[in-house]
Amino acid sequence: MNLNTSLTERPAKIVKPTKPFIPDFAYFEPGALEYPKGERILKWVQSQGIPYKMTSSHNRITGLPGETDLEKYKNAKRTLVVGVRKTLTFDQSKPSAEYAIPISTGCMGHCHYCYLQTTLGAKPYIRVYVNTEDILGAAKNYINERIPEITRFEAACTSDPVGLEHITGSLEELITFMANEEYGRLRFVTKYHHVDPLLHVKHNGHTRIRFSINADYVIRQFEPGTSRFEERIEAAGKIARAGYPLGFIIAPIIWYEGWEDGYASLLERLAAALPREPLKDMTFEMIQHRFTKTAKRVIEQRYPKTKLDMDIAKRKMKWGRYGQYKYVYPDEQQTALREFITEQIFEHFPAATIDYFT
Ligand code: SF4
Repeated sequence: MNLNTSLTERPAKIVKPTKPFIPDFAYFEPGALEYPKGERILKWVQSQGIPYKMTSSHNRITGLPGETDLEKYKNAKRTLVVGVRKTLTFDQSKPSAEYAIPISTGCMGHCHYCYLQTTLGAKPYIRVYVNTEDILGAAKNYINERIPEITRFEAACTSDPVGLEHITGSLEELITFMANEEYGRLRFVTKYHHVDPLLHVKHNGHTRIRFSINADYVIRQFEPGTSRFEERIEAAGKIARAGYPLGFIIAPIIWYEGWEDGYASLLERLAAALPREPLKDMTFEMIQHRFTKTAKRVIEQRYPKTKLDMDIAKRKMKWGRYGQYKYVYPDEQQTALREFITEQIFEHFPAATIDYFT
């Protein structure tokens, strides 16, 4: 074989699409099977050949496989718990919305920086709730309380529901409900590209779907287990063509060697990949990387080889609403990141709105 030929004619690497999540284990909590959605999920679990059990409570789930804490953590992230949402008081969700609407908690992704590592503590399995009607009833009350103000609900505060939609169908129910609410709006963000079940849903422009995007370096280093950038952007094109208000969240914005090139290239690639037809009402949100001392400790245990820079000496302290200091970039770096990325956004998307930088 001619070596030169074999090198130059090497076939392009085939990149496989990111598959929808299939859990390794499933648990059903009491009452879950009294709801049609619980029964539907049970049938799906059986059809996939996923081992499952009944459990008296998600707090009593024990015996997940794994020798070490790390193995148990990884297995927990592949475990689905189907239950009834009892707490129908919604948390606030500033600055992106008024309230967090709870349809699921936990995520199969392995983003090193994810705040669910600390907020979900030692129970990072994926919980989905089957009593959507109760949840929507509570949402309706929150909407009514604020009329004539618009009330926005964020569905991705504690999970990535797009990555679970093929199991639950909950987003479809929320979108359909919100389409008829004059004063209600839904929004959610995702790192997954599995949006096909949402394309045919009647939304009335009342649901904004945002994709989490980042510089190539950040996605490659810190976001295992999520859809690739190209897949997310292709999905964003589908969402735009389905007439949904579209947005992008650049988060977490990370200061690394070469960040200017990385974020400039991100916006350039985004502009090149999105459909050419005018994208009406597109928004950007920008969130700089932050962490707490607890998060740093947990992340270093779970991802011991992470290159995530969490050197407290290089950061500025900021009081967080969870009663802990968080560490953000010093003012000078924040300003440089905000100004540079803002310029890049407006260069490629002059009609876009930037909702906030935080
Ligand atoms: Fe966390 Fe989102 Fe990554 Fe899931 S996809 S691990 S929710 S950051």
